[in-house]
Amino acid sequence: MTAVTDSGVEGCVADVLAIAAHRDDVEQTCGGTLLRMAARGLRTAILDLTQGEAGTRGSGDERAREAEDAAKLLGVGWRQALKLPDGAIENSLENRLEIVRVLRVVRPRVVILPYWQARHPDHAIVAALGYEACFLAGLGKAPGAAPAVRQTAPSARAMRLAAPAPAPAVAPAVRSAESSVRAEGERNSLELAPHRPFKIVYASLYADVRPSFIVDITPFIEQRHAALMAYRSQYANQAAGGGLFVPEEEIRERTFAEARHYGLLAGVRYGEPFVQKEVGLVDDLTLVPVQSI
Ligand SMILES: [Zn+2]
Repeated sequence: MTAVTDSGVEGCVADVLAIAAHRDDVEQTCGGTLLRMAARGLRTAILDLTQGEAGTRGSGDERAREAEDAAKLLGVGWRQALKLPDGAIENSLENRLEIVRVLRVVRPRVVILPYWQARHPDHAIVAALGYEACFLAGLGKAPGAAPAVRQTAPSARAMRLAAPAPAPAVAPAVRSAESSVRAEGERNSLELAPHRPFKIVYASLYADVRPSFIVDITPFIEQRHAALMAYRSQYANQAAGGGLFVPEEEIRERTFAEARHYGLLAGVRYGEPFVQKEVGLVDDLTLVPVQSI
């Protein structure tokens, strides 16, 4: 998998793209799911929308290095951070178009967004911003696309990360897009072909809402924790922000307890919760998982 570089767009297709407001959001809410998808041979990617400059601890540069370390631990093939203002993300046309550009390059079948009700305003806004960008990305003529995309290309920070996962077992339409994207990467990014993700799911770990489904992350809980703790500037015990942040040991206890709670809802040990707006579709009643009684 090739990275998006500051000088332009190259092929970098993924099956699952997690979009989040801040570096470490993905590690907290759906890192185990990304690990599970990678273990299934799917290609995974992360788009963080901010650089994390407003954090109490650490700098944007530190968080960039930590995010790269975390992505390797999560088996993610591609990760990029836009430069939307940390703490003041807006659902504007300009920001939607920045995400449209990424969606048309990465061409995911599934997009993971934060749940739309959240304590942090950035998280709630990203739910709507991401959804609307997914819609816009599928339009043949996105309004105002040319100037906004031209502005965003030089600011993109990209990282080449871990080696891509083995060939995925996903819909042929997604796999077959890779060669065409690579070819299109050599063209002007304004000419990227429209792409609309098939599925949008919302990571609801921190929302007071009943999940639509749980992903069993039992085999990946320790690795997910290691990815979160890669953000040493945020979570290692230190004086700065001591009144705001919980001790390192308690982070483990809290995150494992949350995963255990959601795992119990689905009859597994550790789980991550998601909400989907659509109803489920069943082919065979005898194969529907999660025991009733
Ligand atoms: Zn966040």
